[in-house]
Amino acid sequence: MLVLKFGGTSVGSVENMTHVKNIINDCTKKVVVLSAMSGTTNALVEISEQIRLKDSESALVLIQQLANRYQNTIEELLNDSALINESQEYVHQVFKGLIELVDLEHTELTYSKVVAQGELLSTFLFSRFLMQEGINAALLPALDFMRIDNNDEPDSFYIKQNLNRILYENNEADIYITQGFICLDVQGNISNLQRGGSDYTASIVGAAIEADEVQIWTDIDGFHNNDPRFVENTTAISNISFDEAAELAYFGAKILHPQTVIPVKDLNIPVRLKNTMSPDSYGTLITHHVHGEGIKLSRQKTVFMLLR
Ligand code: ADP
Ligand code: ASP
Ligand code: MG
Repeated sequence: MLVLKFGGTSVGSVENMTHVKNIINDCTKKVVVLSAMSGTTNALVEISEQIRLKDSESALVLIQQLANRYQNTIEELLNDSALINESQEYVHQVFKGLIELVDLEHTELTYSKVVAQGELLSTFLFSRFLMQEGINAALLPALDFMRIDNNDEPDSFYIKQNLNRILYENNEADIYITQGFICLDVQGNISNLQRGGSDYTASIVGAAIEADEVQIWTDIDGFHNNDPRFVENTTAISNISFDEAAELAYFGAKILHPQTVIPVKDLNIPVRLKNTMSPDSYGTLITHHVHGEGIKLSRQKTVFMLLR
């Protein structure tokens, strides 16, 4: 089975969600891990920050703005009245929950609860979109199997046991949708795998189910030889080793969460980076094989170069 993770841009608009639907709807069973719609987690971080600063007015304005975006998304995404009503009720409950946090004391748990809402919203809406399109998908709550231990490391044994049981119980579904990024901590409180952590969720899931491949679908055609946000004319690298990918990610290549390769490397599960908006592009395949002379990193301020 494959694990496919789609990032913020990939689920950030109805048009892109339609691309995702077309990519995953190929009659093979798969686990699909989703990030929050682009901009959502940043907005939630800002809401948490305004609550911490006790600026209730700003927090409420930001919550309302975000709520409006989700109402608009529902209107654009869905046309089935039962699914629209169910989604509106879900979104209403999420934003009501955020408003209830505004005048309470801000703690670390407040932050975790607030930022978790992005993946809960995107997966709920996307799963309803798939139902509307007649696709046999099951929404599996990540909090039912994704847990970190005392050292903030994934609790692999717990995840493996629970995820495989849940997949077995939902055997009739073709596509399993779950949330990236969010998890429980050892106390059973909501937590997360740090910013950009949905990539890590995908590889943890991939290891737990011994997937054939983990695919990270994003808004660019794979690992580039330099950071395209700072450098012009960068090009995609077709093949790269686990160690090279880990090093690039560690030194700031935002395309991949730095810990992503850890769970899959020893199991030799390939990681493929793909572009949701250009699915025919090869992307980057990350395996044990080292191609060419390996990479050399040369850091210049915040950017680095990748030289073969
Ligand atoms: P997603 O929301 O899909 O997880 P991210 O924004 O986290 O996407 O990662 C993709 C972005 O990473 C690209 O749009 C690109 O701007 C940035 N990026 C930084 N360094 C690199 C690199 N070396 N190769 C490719 N993309 C990179
Ligand atoms: N939504 C989270 C973030 O923006 C996790 C992710 O997108 O990978 O950091
Ligand atoms: Mg990312």
